[in-house]
Amino acid sequence: MATLWATASAPPRGSVSGAPGAPTQAPPSPGNGVGAPVRETLVGGASPLARTGEPPVIRIRGVTKTYALGATTVHALRGVDLDVHRGEFVAIMGPSGSGKSTLMNVIGCLDLPTSGTYELDGRETSRLKDDELAEIRNQKIGFIFQMFNLLPRTSALEQVELPLVYAGRKDRRALATAALASVGLEDRMHHKPSELSGGQQQRVAVARALVTEPAILLADEPTGNLDSRSSEEIMALLQKLNRDRGITIVFVTHEPDITQHMQRAIHIRDGRVVRDERVEHPLNAEEILARLPAEDDEEVKS
Ligand code: ADP
Ligand code: MG
Repeated sequence: MATLWATASAPPRGSVSGAPGAPTQAPPSPGNGVGAPVRETLVGGASPLARTGEPPVIRIRGVTKTYALGATTVHALRGVDLDVHRGEFVAIMGPSGSGKSTLMNVIGCLDLPTSGTYELDGRETSRLKDDELAEIRNQKIGFIFQMFNLLPRTSALEQVELPLVYAGRKDRRALATAALASVGLEDRMHHKPSELSGGQQQRVAVARALVTEPAILLADEPTGNLDSRSSEEIMALLQKLNRDRGITIVFVTHEPDITQHMQRAIHIRDGRVVRDERVEHPLNAEEILARLPAEDDEEVKS
């Protein structure tokens, strides 16, 4: 069994307009005027949004990660405490090299911490074996990546069915169809990635991540290769999934405008959480989209 199906193939490159590559139009400034955030800063693990007595879906305590690099030791994580509750939509922010990917790898059960504990959805994971970690990934985690990581010659429907194959599900066609409909791609189900815009490809990836109904959705810079409008569309989709279906989302980004779409911003630096703050009035992606000029829309609807 594949341990991480989503990285099984190289992402398609340069295949469609609006896909990977620098955006050419001037970016809008969604940070202006809307929902100026009122913030409170907390550090030390507890979620600033924790309201109920329900245990957190992510509970990290004292997590360190060191890498041996020749004679030196790299301290990628230096003692992270973090809770994320069900239904939160949180940003993990930090400069390059601060430990974001290392932390995401631990949260995503792609890697084990050197020390400390990590409970995912009530299950302690920090001492599991590779095959047990793979099983947890398949059951509990949906991944969305910057480069979409779709299979190049495979229809949207088949991409979304794939995790259900690994999960041994029989009702694959119906579930995949429903997942694609939930991301607005019911009329693109038989298209291959090269026949879809970048934003549409990322929506296929969102459907693929959701179809197994994971406990958490992990997104690593999922708007990093999208133009401004497509980025905003992905944010609108994730906000809707979070709002309507209560899906828990952890989202790595270094873009401040993107961070303002989430309810909580966790800042990491040098392997530590240095700030954990609530965004009082997150930006509403639907409203921003409504204000964007129409000529930014590269999608051609059939
Ligand atoms: P970010 O995602 O915030 O850019 P990373 O988590 O990738 O940061 O890296 C944190 C630190 O750990 C960096 O100093 C990086 O060079 C180091 N690091 C990451 N992965 C490895 C590895 N496999 N081997 C050695 N050092 C690593
Ligand atoms: Mg990284």
